[in-house]
Amino acid sequence: MKPQGIAVLGATGSIGVNTLDVVARHPDRYRVVALSGHRQVDRLFEQACRFLPLYVVVADAASANALQGRLREQGLATEVLYGAAALERVAALSEVDVVMAAIVGAAGLPSAMAAARAGKKILLANKEALVVAGRLFMETVREHGATLLPVDSEHNAIFQSLPHDYAGNLDASGIRKIILTASGGPFRQHSAEALLQVTPEDACRHPNWVMGRKISVDSASLMNKGLEVIEAHWLFAAPPERIDVVVHPQSVIHSMVQYRDGSVLAQLGSPDMRTPIACALAWPERIEAGVASLDFFSMGSLTFEQPDLQRFPCLGLAFASLQSGGDAPAVLNAANEVAVAAFLEGRLRFVDIAKVVEATLAGVSLSASGTLAALLDKDGEARRFAANKVGSC
Ligand code: NAD
Ligand code: MG
Repeated sequence: MKPQGIAVLGATGSIGVNTLDVVARHPDRYRVVALSGHRQVDRLFEQACRFLPLYVVVADAASANALQGRLREQGLATEVLYGAAALERVAALSEVDVVMAAIVGAAGLPSAMAAARAGKKILLANKEALVVAGRLFMETVREHGATLLPVDSEHNAIFQSLPHDYAGNLDASGIRKIILTASGGPFRQHSAEALLQVTPEDACRHPNWVMGRKISVDSASLMNKGLEVIEAHWLFAAPPERIDVVVHPQSVIHSMVQYRDGSVLAQLGSPDMRTPIACALAWPERIEAGVASLDFFSMGSLTFEQPDLQRFPCLGLAFASLQSGGDAPAVLNAANEVAVAAFLEGRLRFVDIAKVVEATLAGVSLSASGTLAALLDKDGEARRFAANKVGSC
């Protein structure tokens, strides 16, 4: 069998590194064609030396020149490209069969769309792409015969728990509800008063998962679960009222599908992203991911609770934006990205993230418009509004 060509966009991040870990276990199956790393040039250099891609992509010309020089010194033929257009270009290369979309934030949308237009097999970690442009993204995937496989652990769990021939109709498949599990994050047991004091370091210390800083803050605020509700809506054609969120602090059950006859199918595993990555890479085959099996005898008990929308209003805001439809989720996402960046830089309190998002949803005019250009325009407008709001918090 000829190895499949893979482009890992966001290769230097948490998902990217885990993807390369799985890929490295299967040199006969996968050949790395392209890697992107934005500003993490040293890590990208090491990855290029190890995986010998045809292309690497960085943020700007100066880093590209410097990296190109270092790679030449090593005798590597890898070509260094830069900028957002280069991400789109490598996502559509004829040598690329599989695109891992693992850039963080709306910045990952254009290259994920390019992969969809080129009919690639897309492994989607970048949930923000679906939050910003879900309808358009799903239409593009369908029109161009692309294959979309979810990498987000909850959505991968749901994908595994759905009938194999699931065609986007819950009723036709006898499904009552999609149940997303949430760990509850590091502040699950914090009082409203304690939440006033939390720092970026506290927020990035997730009890079960090691992840990038932005998604770690999102997990702490439950915005991550809100983004995942929107992601599930588009991936599985599930209306918001048929998506439930259950807090399950042990993160053993990664999500579930509840059927009409009372059955609930779930996927369980260790909290290690290499499992959903390997599942999506090889589907419908199963490959070694370097992950140990669950040990039921040392696991202890599995518990479940309701999410608290008072202390964690971001989840409610995400549901509300999905109910409004149109570009409301894109506005929610843009405001959240601005607020989270400000929190990580020490310019905003944790509890004010939700306030900035709420004010932006109320302050920016929302519309039903769906072209990519219109959505990106709205994203820009929402970012400016949110940045102002951060300044006045
Ligand atoms: P990360 O911060 O660790 O890595 C982000 C990657 O994107 C890096 O390679 C970085 O260089 C690149 N990048 C950042 N800004 C960019 C820009 N403006 N343009 C181009 N590239 C840029 O993030 P992560 O934790 O790996 O998450 C990546 C995506 O996967 C996110 O959308 C996240 O929600 C999703 N996800 C992550 C996890 C996880 O366990 N980490 C789980 C589920 C979903
Ligand atoms: Mg997730």
